[in-house]
Amino acid sequence: MNEQDLNAKLQLSKEDMKKYGYAIIDHIVSHFETQDSKKPVAIASREEMDELLTEDIPSSPTNAHDVLNFVMDQVIPQSTIVTHPKSFSFVPGPSNYISAMADTIATGFNIFSGGWAASPGAAELEILTMNWLLEIFGFGKKRGGGIFTSGGSMANLTALVTARRIKCGDDFSKAVIYLSDQAHSSNIKAIKVIGFKKSQIRIIPTDLEFKISLNKLKNAIAKDRLQGLDPFCIIASAGTTNTGTVDPLNEIAKICKEEKLWFHIDGAYGGAAILANNGKKLLKGIEKADSLTVDPHKWFFQPYEMGCLLVKNHNWLSGTFREQPEYLRDVEGNQSEINFYDHGIQLTRRFRALKFYMSLKTFGLNAFKKAIQYNIELAEQTETILRKSSTWEVVSPATLAVINFRFNPIDRDLSEKEIDLINQKISERIMHSREALLVTTVLVGQVVLRMCLINPRTTLDHIKETITQCEIYGKELLAKEFAN
Ligand SMILES: *Cc1c(COP(=O)(O)O)cnc(C)c1O
Repeated sequence: MNEQDLNAKLQLSKEDMKKYGYAIIDHIVSHFETQDSKKPVAIASREEMDELLTEDIPSSPTNAHDVLNFVMDQVIPQSTIVTHPKSFSFVPGPSNYISAMADTIATGFNIFSGGWAASPGAAELEILTMNWLLEIFGFGKKRGGGIFTSGGSMANLTALVTARRIKCGDDFSKAVIYLSDQAHSSNIKAIKVIGFKKSQIRIIPTDLEFKISLNKLKNAIAKDRLQGLDPFCIIASAGTTNTGTVDPLNEIAKICKEEKLWFHIDGAYGGAAILANNGKKLLKGIEKADSLTVDPHKWFFQPYEMGCLLVKNHNWLSGTFREQPEYLRDVEGNQSEINFYDHGIQLTRRFRALKFYMSLKTFGLNAFKKAIQYNIELAEQTETILRKSSTWEVVSPATLAVINFRFNPIDRDLSEKEIDLINQKISERIMHSREALLVTTVLVGQVVLRMCLINPRTTLDHIKETITQCEIYGKELLAKEFAN
């Protein structure tokens, strides 16, 4: 076929495909080799991006390599490097090369991972890897089930739709749901998406350690019952995003049992810590949940997008999401042959299980365990360094690889307002330097710097360098703006 004919079928010649593919692999490998020495922070305004990227709809072809080079030069560098060892904020995405390549296979073969009949191999790998996760979290493989989603938000949404059907049936007008003020915003989003009113949500305060207050939780449930409402679900956090705190899972499980409530655990951030000794202790009781969200694209080192919902009984999912339209009649299959489109919201789904399978098999579970253990200890070592310093105050201790601290020199009598301001400015300066991704969060009204240390390539030196840089900024700010 000549070039024009190929173009009209959106094709490339074999030679061109190879050249193009190898060029992309070269870019990715070079990024993996050099990313640690790049600057992690990208900052650009809408105006700057408009200036760089706005163009008319391209009606005629452009040379493939010219397009690729443009993207590699102008688009890709305009992104925060979440895999960078100094990417400390939000939840980093350390990723791994095997999974990146596995995703390339899934896309290259455009595997439809919706139904058994279309891709028995993909469905079986999802069942297999789900069984591994069910085992890891003590959920029992026999009845348990689950589904891979785009992320934790979708997993939480899938869980709440399931909980609502099982606990409330069709009428949820009086149903009430409970979660702490430290629970992730995606839960509130999901609750809104599925049509609950604000008045059906109870945000329970947390104690001094950022755990949900059991007393206040029990009071709220009792009060709602007295008012004729129907408490139906508690969402506990297993690793809050802010502080890594795990709610008292065993106690909440007990309340759920007594009150006949659905027990959902959002372990999107912290769930993976079950693979580490010290994490396992903190997560005791996680196996008692009815449903559990974990997020492989966080601490299981998978590239985006990959979330996961586990449930105690796989029938709960199929009972909630199964529709039987006539056009899927011929591919229904039997009970054991799972159609994952029956277990969640998406019909057409990408083959997410593949990257989890290939990376876990290639590196081995022990490598994941070691990496997670390392991350937890790294945060603890960071805490030790900060505690020994007269300039830093630890605001929440190292918990599941998260630590919060603030610049607050003991020899200066700064007001709370000044401390807030100075820490805000330290973060702004370090972001502006682009040397480290380090933003603030707010804990009990205090502006603090937060580090989430789930990258196995982050070393104590990376952390020390960043703290030193922050300290220099802090002292400069003190000398200039707070000279009193
Ligand atoms: C990140 C996070 C989520 C949301 O997950 P996404 O993958 O970003 O959709 C939910 N809950 C917790 C605790 C999280 O840390």
